[in-house]
Amino acid sequence: MSDPLNNSYYQASANAWKPQPVFNGNGQFDVAIIGGGFTGLSAALACAEKGLKVALFEAQSIGFGASGRNGGQLIPGLRWSMREFDEEFGRERAQAIFDLAYGAVQRVNRRIAKHGIQCDLKAGHLEAAYKPAHFDAMQRDAEFLAKQFGWKSEIVQPHDMGRHINGGGYHGGIYDLQGGHFHPLNYAIGLATAAQNAGVSIFENSPALAIEGNQVCTPSGSVSASHVVLAADSWMGDLDTGLARYTIPIMNYNVATAPLPNAVELLPSDAAVADSRFVLNYFRLSADKRLIFGGGEKYVQTPPADIAAFVRKHIVEVFPSLAETPIDYAWGGAVGVTMNRLPHIGRKGNVFFAHGFSGHGALVTTLAGELLAEAVTGTMARFDVFANLPQRPFPGGRMLARPLATLGLLWYALKDRL
Ligand SMILES: Cc1cc2nc3c(=O)[nH]c(=O)nc-3n(C[C@H](O)[C@H](O)[C@H](O)COP(=O)(O)OP(=O)(O)OC[C@H]3O[C@@H](n4cnc5c(N)ncnc54)[C@H](O)[C@@H]3O)c2cc1C
Repeated sequence: MSDPLNNSYYQASANAWKPQPVFNGNGQFDVAIIGGGFTGLSAALACAEKGLKVALFEAQSIGFGASGRNGGQLIPGLRWSMREFDEEFGRERAQAIFDLAYGAVQRVNRRIAKHGIQCDLKAGHLEAAYKPAHFDAMQRDAEFLAKQFGWKSEIVQPHDMGRHINGGGYHGGIYDLQGGHFHPLNYAIGLATAAQNAGVSIFENSPALAIEGNQVCTPSGSVSASHVVLAADSWMGDLDTGLARYTIPIMNYNVATAPLPNAVELLPSDAAVADSRFVLNYFRLSADKRLIFGGGEKYVQTPPADIAAFVRKHIVEVFPSLAETPIDYAWGGAVGVTMNRLPHIGRKGNVFFAHGFSGHGALVTTLAGELLAEAVTGTMARFDVFANLPQRPFPGGRMLARPLATLGLLWYALKDRL
């Protein structure tokens, strides 16, 4: 039976990719990378560009995780505003975080241009205020970002929102032309192809079962590697139970409608849109003018019996005219979330890891992969900017972490409705 979570528009419109072999036997590499999402692929490509001999192990297929299923929204920065970073860490550290996190946009654009990746890249991202108070806070953040860090975006007054979106009753927004959207699976396939061309050995259907010293063990063989990069995000499982406690997987669902004859009326500037709620609605048009819409979260792993119906409720809140529009694809994935919504990046001996991008990974994972490659080759300064971000595991140990985190998340979800 087909996987109900993997019936994605992205799978149906994926660029050509030749399935790669299962790893079999033994081998010796400079770097063994675990996980074939944006983080692992970017790290693999960057390591190979530095002349290292690299093997990448993917438990399923390239882009199988969040990277091949996400909303494709390219949102500059991290989940915290630069005002929050500045208040928490002071200007010097905030500047270093800004340079990397916002510089991630250029890194993705560079990869797409350099490797000729066909992934329907479009400029323009709109953050839409769900409440007037959200718009006030957004304006303050945008003004701070422009004045202190020189990052310019456009404040869109409520009466001007029709230039970008006709629906949703939003109370203004921030339009950022440096953000945008893309076809995430095709970006992953593009990175994988570039990595292969640079000499990376990619193995699919090859889960890493254990990391033992400098050995990475798979069901049919093991490799030794001077360094291991762990880029398995929310499904790390038993591979490193200590690290796994820093994230919880939150299930999130997406659909793609049939191509819309009135797409340009609904989203005239073709921007990707995300609203300002904790459990947000986010949407955009595909290259063939389908509405790709994500909305609603579930804190249990079992998917809704009817994913399309689950998401349609949220579509209709924004675009009532789409109540009867056919939904051609519905899928879901796990968002790896940390306690403070910042990524968890660091080093444990010879293992370098990056995970928990907390729904903000489409741009920053490419950066993270490149920082992992720098760290592997001994250049730590930029890596440390992220590795020094504060992180702690979810409380409650293996059994209680998820129920306790769920209670907290339900509280924030309730606040959306107040
Ligand atoms: C539904 C959804 C919508 C999202 N929307 C957005 C968005 O619009 N914008 C945005 O910025 N972010 C979004 N995100 C988040 C973003 O997709 C992720 O932050 C990002 O893709 C994480 O990339 P990654 O490479 O770290 O992890 P993944 O893409 O999850 O890759 C990890 C890979 O590791 C593999 N793996 C796991 N265990 C092993 C093992 N033992 N051995 C070998 N391989 C293993 C998995 O199969 C997987 O392919 C969304 C996420 C989801 C799920």
